[in-house]
Amino acid sequence: SRFEDLGLTPELLRGLYGMNFTKPSKIQERALPLLLRDPPTNLIAQSQSGTGKTAAFTLTMLSRIDWSVPPTKPQALCLVNTRELAVQIEDVVKQMGVHTPVQVAMAVKDAHGRGQRVVGHVVVGTPGTVLELARRRQLDLSGINVLVLDEADTMLDAQNLGEQAGRVRPLVPATSQVLLFSATFPDKVKAFAASFAPSANLLSLAPQDIKV
Ligand code: AMP
Repeated sequence: SRFEDLGLTPELLRGLYGMNFTKPSKIQERALPLLLRDPPTNLIAQSQSGTGKTAAFTLTMLSRIDWSVPPTKPQALCLVNTRELAVQIEDVVKQMGVHTPVQVAMAVKDAHGRGQRVVGHVVVGTPGTVLELARRRQLDLSGINVLVLDEADTMLDAQNLGEQAGRVRPLVPATSQVLLFSATFPDKVKAFAASFAPSANLLSLAPQDIKV
């Protein structure tokens, strides 16, 4: 399959070419037709690092942005475990969106002073800081179209992170498209995923499909 057949905008295709992505990985090939379809559907995907999942959810976030809406009203929110992962994803969003007007904001500890507004079409952050910024009304979640939760299993293993991610969920519009990625699906993750991303399409990759 080809990126050109997925209905991506020319700007996003150019972003992909600039990153030397010429052909979709397995997860991209299988997930993107579902993810980009209207009306938006939720996705729960079994996938680990190395599958190309970051590009799959980044293309979804960038495809769902209405550029006429100012970045003071963020439209995509990506929740991750660590600041390091947030920085990596920020980088991918910027690279892939280089031919779009995208602005990315980080919602990680100490990134914003008190009262400082979080401005970005896309916000990438850790659950606790997202909750804190939303509570202080520095982060407006009322315009979110896409919510991504990366590495759900790792998140649920950490003391507070899973519980905090669960508390972010009701702060975004109920109509948001929700994408949940996890390398493993023990019962705890399954139960969380079912409530976090209801009525989702389920996608799991065969071991031979894992590497990009
Ligand atoms: P991820 O699973 O998101 O951590 O991505 C794994 C690695 O594969 C990253 O270094 C990406 O830059 C790369 N990658 C993702 N999708 C593609 C693609 N379609 N073509 C080439 N490289 C890719």
